[in-house]
Amino acid sequence: MSKVEILPNFIGGQRRKSTSPDFDWVRNPATGQDLAKVPLSGPEDVDKAAQAAQKAFPRWRRTPPGERVQYLYKLKQLLEEELDNLARSVTEECGKTLEEARGELQRGIENVEVACGIPTLMQGYNSEDIARGIDEIMIRQPVGVVAAITPFNFPAMIPLWFMPYAVACGNCIILKPSERVPVTIARLVRLIERTGLPEGVVQVVNGSRETVEAILDHPAIKAVSFVGSTTVARAVYARAAADGKRAQCQGGAKNPIIVLPDADMETTGRIAADSAFGCAGQRCLAASVAITVGEAGKSFRDVIVEIARKRKVGYGLEEGTEMGPVITAESKSRIEALIQKGIDGGGRPLVDGRGARIAGYEQGHFLRPTVIGEVSADNPVSGEEIFGPVLSLVEAATIEDAIEWVNSGRYGNMACLFTQSGAAARKFRHEADVGNIGINLGVAAPMAYFPFSGWKDSFFGDLHGQGRDAVDFYTQKKVVVERWPKEWSRKF
Ligand code: NAD
Repeated sequence: MSKVEILPNFIGGQRRKSTSPDFDWVRNPATGQDLAKVPLSGPEDVDKAAQAAQKAFPRWRRTPPGERVQYLYKLKQLLEEELDNLARSVTEECGKTLEEARGELQRGIENVEVACGIPTLMQGYNSEDIARGIDEIMIRQPVGVVAAITPFNFPAMIPLWFMPYAVACGNCIILKPSERVPVTIARLVRLIERTGLPEGVVQVVNGSRETVEAILDHPAIKAVSFVGSTTVARAVYARAAADGKRAQCQGGAKNPIIVLPDADMETTGRIAADSAFGCAGQRCLAASVAITVGEAGKSFRDVIVEIARKRKVGYGLEEGTEMGPVITAESKSRIEALIQKGIDGGGRPLVDGRGARIAGYEQGHFLRPTVIGEVSADNPVSGEEIFGPVLSLVEAATIEDAIEWVNSGRYGNMACLFTQSGAAARKFRHEADVGNIGINLGVAAPMAYFPFSGWKDSFFGDLHGQGRDAVDFYTQKKVVVERWPKEWSRKF
């Protein structure tokens, strides 16, 4: 029997035991070691969190923005001081390499930095004399109690896409981390406590589906941010909207990259491999289909096969590891079954990463990079999200055919083009029906001061996470039209 403790929730500035007796195990996906037990909180815990947030809101919203962001400056400093410990925690619970985990933390910190600009970003605007003697002013006010529901693949960064902006804008937030990776957030809570942030401004409620449903149905929660798979994103969006809540729901992806014959194949292969196999392919911006045009087919195939074969798979905490495990045994089985489906559908296994065994880590959920060649449009995996280290190769005759392939998919998270032609790049940028575009790069992750876009089945809503969209999402605009007739005023 393991002595691992059950994680608390964080409500009203206190660590509180969930009222639910149900829990899940959190295990290191590389070693199988028990890390924690995560409570599967129900409506009662969500209600307590919502009440604590509601109680804190009137005072927090009246705290001047310039004062509110002082807690975030402090948080940035603490995140930097604790970066290595937090990165270790990300690797332990999520499986990615330590270097990838550090990168994730860095991207999270950038969001804290941008949110520190709220005193300026949150300004409204005004017009004097919209009619004779009448002025009009737009002011932004916080929405109230908001919630963010996040996935397993970025335990630290994705909560930081939301929390800093929500709080800086004067809202109080409930975070519902993925039940598969709740440990890093528990550590983040300790840092938040050290900033001295008033109690009730940030809550963490652990759990899974029932917790999310309680959030969606709670009348005090006015806005919901969600990141996860498309099926759940769509359902969360519909349920939140039916209740009149604001919602921004980021879903799954199937990201294509197009390789033109004039691209530098060595560089393109290296970048494409990092995109497809980095974080074991468990990134919503991972390349999963490479569409080569004309003679790029052979040269790209040779390069990517070579790189995929050499990638060092192992425990993310060990030096030199280039790819860690996938999150669970179920994920591994699902990915292996999809590889088989792709082969049965006519694909050719150029590199088959199934059945990977890593010495010393027999309990780990490892796969090696996989490359499937000759994937056609009617192959059942050509449009399906695999969310593992699998790259499908597709051959197209022209750039027009390649762009048509990109636009025929149900997802629209990211697409990239590799070329030396500015005209081709411009055409692609203009015509591709996706939210995030990369030119000669493999992971087009927007900086924190740009919206993290996403179209079609990759996003439900209108305002995205990060940057100015986040400020729009977390504030409501109030318009004041005012007249102060001279004749009504005392003479001074
Ligand atoms: P998931 O949909 O299983 O879970 C996401 C969150 O929803 C978790 O907090 C989970 O507890 C909750 N949840 C799960 N099932 C639910 C249900 N039936 N009802 C209500 N809530 C539920 O996703 P995941 O496996 O944690 O993450 C991987 C997915 O996230 C992939 O599809 C990936 O593409 C996507 N993702 C998208 C982005 C993006 O920016 N678009 C970023 C990261 C991950």
